This record gives sequence, structure tokens and C-alpha cells, in this order.
Amino acid sequence: MARFFLFIPPGSLYRRDDRCQSKVADQTIRAVFPPLDLAYMAAILRQAGHEVRMADYPASRRGILHLQKDLTQFAPDCVIYTCTAPTLENDLQLAGLMKQWKSDLSVAVKGEPANFLDERMLHDYPAIDFVLRGEAEGILKRYVKGMALEEIPGVTAQSESGIRRNPAPTELLDLDTLPFPARDLLDNSLYPWPETGDPMTTVLTSQGCPFECIFCPVVPLTGKRVRFRSVESILGELHECIDRFNIRHFLFHADTFTLKKQWVVDLCRAIVEQGLSIEWAANSRVDTIDKERLEWMKRAGCRIIGFGVESGMDEHLQAMGKNTTTQQARHAVRLCRECGIRSHAFFVFGFPWDTEESIRKTIDFALELDPDFFDFNLAFPIPGTELYRMVVEEGLCDLERLKQGGYSVAALRTRTVSAERLEQLRRAALWRLYLRPGYVIRTLAATGSPLVAWRYCRAAVKRIANLLFGV
Ligand code: SF4
Repeated sequence: MARFFLFIPPGSLYRRDDRCQSKVADQTIRAVFPPLDLAYMAAILRQAGHEVRMADYPASRRGILHLQKDLTQFAPDCVIYTCTAPTLENDLQLAGLMKQWKSDLSVAVKGEPANFLDERMLHDYPAIDFVLRGEAEGILKRYVKGMALEEIPGVTAQSESGIRRNPAPTELLDLDTLPFPARDLLDNSLYPWPETGDPMTTVLTSQGCPFECIFCPVVPLTGKRVRFRSVESILGELHECIDRFNIRHFLFHADTFTLKKQWVVDLCRAIVEQGLSIEWAANSRVDTIDKERLEWMKRAGCRIIGFGVESGMDEHLQAMGKNTTTQQARHAVRLCRECGIRSHAFFVFGFPWDTEESIRKTIDFALELDPDFFDFNLAFPIPGTELYRMVVEEGLCDLERLKQGGYSVAALRTRTVSAERLEQLRRAALWRLYLRPGYVIRTLAATGSPLVAWRYCRAAVKRIANLLFGV
């Protein structure tokens, strides 16, 4: 049996196990999510008898010296860690450092950029032994059944004859066959529900998406197949979170939670019938929501729904492959308001075709929609996506800016708007929407308690500091 150390590398707080890859400080709701992917992998390894530890250095505000100390004390045979597109170089350089500290260490890297930049990563950073592409949980399931890591589909590895890239697996994971994530190896208090500070966790509910937004890596990676966990399996995990970890706040993690109406209703009905007193957030598309779904979600404890509204122009929604309309966005936000669930609308600009005029239209549309929470992200070319191919081909990508990353640093310019100007427009959009007296009063009035109102004020101060000083 071997010793495995799974961790998020030291550095800034990012959303790393998701397609978003955004800096937490750049978002309106500064929620830090636990590394669910690593917790699943830890559970698989431990179930097979391996000794496993986990660490989330950014969330615990610990740095490289702590990593060195942990490695020395635990002396793992193998480390597996997550890299993120905007922090890629720093993340990958760690491999060489760790090999200096422990020369017989096997180093495996996973994460969104690893899915498509695997060969380059192994070439440029020879201290990395393995890159785990796609569903790393599936790779480990095969590993614990006895396959050598370098033989497993989805693995790219250093070998004596050069870099060996195994084909992707032909089958995707059945989510119900996964053990529950090893939350006991995490400090769950590091992931508070932003409104109250109570512990929060993410629960995987489904995976995959049948749509093809050009900036999204989901379909290039796993195709259009969508897999849903069974209601029983999700309920079992919710019970474990409540009974064992005293967690009652959740983010239901899915590419589009509301995709299948009957499944949403069945899950929510089961939560209601079992009397689970929980609060949760989920995401949706503006065209996969209706009153019945929303009413069940509200009854089951849903408090916030995130929508990728993206643009205020229908032709741009088509161009980016979103295939929704501004009318559907209006309808979705209005329905949420009627049902008493808060909406969080995400807008994105900085695509090759964007002009100052189209960006202004999107900002105006955001004002018109008037969602409860909003974010403006700058288009970010995640490797493997159609957007990445497009901007590289047109020479619109700035590699230096790409390395600074996040959704607030423009890695792209459009055909008519510079990267610097895009950043100015984003900041101006956020100021314009935040600084509406009616919005501020409405938001504070909706908190319903002085404690929550105080936490909102504290979050607002941090947001202002982020916009003014980039912290
Ligand atoms: S709707 Fe678009 S952004 Fe959302 S998961 Fe599907 S492809 Fe990705």
C-alpha cells in the first residue's frame, strides 16, 4: 500500500475544480469551495487501503514552507495536485521543488489546463511524472484495481521512450459508483456559507452538458453526454454531511443543475419528504427553468440560482454558442423573483466580435434585468475550447496577461477593443451596478438579520477594495 498526498498548491484562492477557473476575490460572492475532486480521489484511494492525506493551502492560508513541512512529515510516495489556467506556471514549478525535497516522489498533476496542455506540461516540466486528463476519479478507480498508472486511459506519462499519451477512456464514470468524498480529511470550516459563516460543502449532482458554448471546456472534454446521480445517492451524501459533519449548506455542483425537469422535481421532493433542513445554491440556464422547478427548489431549500446570462445581444448569444435569448433571461430572473429565490446573473464580454457598443448594451441589459447578484467576467480562453482556437488563430491572445489570469485580467483583446480598455469597462460596469442606492437598500433589506447584513457590508468593503486596489 502506498502513501498519497493530494493538495491544492499554495497561492491565491481560485475556483479550481470547476470550468470557471476564476479568482475568488474577483467574484461578487466570495465563496470558497472545497476541492471535491480531490476528496473523491482520496476516498477511492483510501477505500483500497492506501494511506491518504489532503491539504488546501490557499484556503488555509498556508504557504510553500507548510507544504515542505507536510511532505517531510508525511513522506508520501505520490502527490497529486491541481493546477489552474491562470496560475499554471507557478503550479507546475512546484513539481521540481518537491523532487528536490524528496527525490523518489512520484508527481501527478490534474486540473482544467492539464486536459489539453498535458504533453507540453510534461515536456517543459520533466519533474512531473503523470498528467491525469479528464475524470481523474475514473483513472484512480482503474489504478486501485491493479492497473499501472502509465497504462491507464486518460493518463499522459513520462516514459523512457519519451512522452506517452494514452487515449481518453471510452467510458465515462457512473457517478453512483463513486464513494462519498473524504470530507473527514478536509477542514470543513475553511469553506463557509458566505451569508452566515456556517460550514458549506459542494455535492456533485450531475455532470455533462448537451450545449456547446465556445468558451466552455465541458463538451470538448466529455462530449455531450449528461450523467445524473440517483436521488438516493445524493440523499445519502446529504445525510452524511448533516449527521457526521454538521454541514447544512450546500452548492449543488453540476454543469447545469436544472437540465432535466423530472429529476430536479424528484430530488427536491425527496429532500422535502425527508425533512432535511438545508440551504443550497445551484446553477441553471435561462432556458431550463420554469415555475414548477423553481417552486420545488424553493421548498427544498434553494436560496440562490446562478445563470450564465452572458450577453445583452441575441446575435452574440448565438455567436458564442449559448443559444439562449435575452427574452428567456428576462423571464428566468422574473420567475426567480416571483418564487422567492435570488438570482445571480453572470455576464461575459471580450469576445473577438465585441465592440464598445456591444459591451454597453450588455451592461444596459444587466441594469434592466436587475438580478440580485451579478458578475461581469472577461472572456478567458481555456485551452481546448473553440474560443482558445479562435483567439490564437486571430492573434488576439496576450500570453503574458493570460498568465496573470482570473476573469478580471483581460487575456484577450477584441478586434476593436484593447485588453486594457476591456478591464476598464468591466470595472465601470460593476461600479455602475453596485452603486445604485435602490439596489443597496433592497439587498440589505433582504438579508433579514443584522448578522447577515453585517456580513454583506463586510463583503462589500472587500469588493470595493478588490475593485480599487485589485486585492
Ligand atoms: S451551458 Fe454552456 S457554459 Fe454551461 S456547461 Fe453547457 S456548454 Fe458549458
